[in-house]
Amino acid sequence: MEHTRVLIIGSGPAGLTAAIYSGRAQLSPIVIEGEPSSTSDQPGGQLMLTTDIENFPGFPEAISGPGLMTNIREQALRFGADLRVAKVTRLDTTVRPFRAWIGDEAEPSISADAVILATGARSLMLGVPGEERLLSHGLSTCATCDGFFFRGQDIAVIGGGDSAIEEATFLTRFASSVTLVHRRDTLRASKIMQERARANEKIRFAWNTQVTEILGDDKVSGLAVRDTVTGDERVVDVTGVFLAIGHVPNTELVIDQLTLRDNGYVRTGIGSYTDIDGLFAAGDVQDDVYRQAITSAGSGCVAAIDAERWLEAQGF
Ligand code: NAP
Repeated sequence: MEHTRVLIIGSGPAGLTAAIYSGRAQLSPIVIEGEPSSTSDQPGGQLMLTTDIENFPGFPEAISGPGLMTNIREQALRFGADLRVAKVTRLDTTVRPFRAWIGDEAEPSISADAVILATGARSLMLGVPGEERLLSHGLSTCATCDGFFFRGQDIAVIGGGDSAIEEATFLTRFASSVTLVHRRDTLRASKIMQERARANEKIRFAWNTQVTEILGDDKVSGLAVRDTVTGDERVVDVTGVFLAIGHVPNTELVIDQLTLRDNGYVRTGIGSYTDIDGLFAAGDVQDDVYRQAITSAGSGCVAAIDAERWLEAQGF
């Protein structure tokens, strides 16, 4: 079994920032980045599914999500991080050192003195009929990935937060119209994003509207919706639907080993310390409040410093 002092699981801003700091601390971290085929833990994390990032300090003219992740990745490599495109499928924190299984291995192949869990979060789904069948057939959770395919079409975005507004605005580059379907009559999104959407003549708003079914046999042909005030039911004629209703943390590796918070996120005490000695958590897997690229990167830095000091205190 290969041994490392620090194993970092996840390669979003949290994981890769932890890699930069651990690398510079001469800890030669192994980073298991995730797999490109997966929607929940693709290398680079959720920023790979984002358009322009205007609020990451240091980029006055904005930078694309994938562009930012490429930069942070190169920086981590420069300091000796060992980045691997693979998936951790099991983590055992009940033994010392911790053990990790990669892919479909029957036996663990990596042991680690400390682990930084930076597995992020994934898109929430509506749980309505048609959703499973039509995912990737006109139904998408990623405007950046799929927007291009909806050129000249009427489409809908579900949600009322920053993600929904950002996606709706981005999708107007391609679509004829974008209907923002929101279950209430006020948006959760920040004021500046709201104003931008309201000023965009391609964006329409369907207020107090709950999706009851995604329609279509082998591709999306419409949305069945219900008015939450009047109870009226109708069909919104769209050929594409984008979900942007929030996220759920990727805690599968630790769910049976850690006490999670009521909402399923990893509980961190001071800094990045979890209930398990030597296991640190950073980024969206432990943050249901801020969830920004910059806060995620900051928490990756915190986790790397915590892990380094913890290792030193243990005499590793
Ligand atoms: P969010 O803020 O949690 O918003 C989720 C939206 O989806 C809410 O409007 C919610 O409705 C709606 N929703 C949730 N479950 C639903 C369901 N089952 N059916 C219908 N609607 C449902 O999530 P987010 O937009 O992904 O943003 C997450 C965080 O990332 C936020 O802190 C946000 O500021 C940040 N973010 C920032 C940027 C940026 O600054 N460029 C971009 C994207 C995200 P209710 O409002 O009724 O609860």
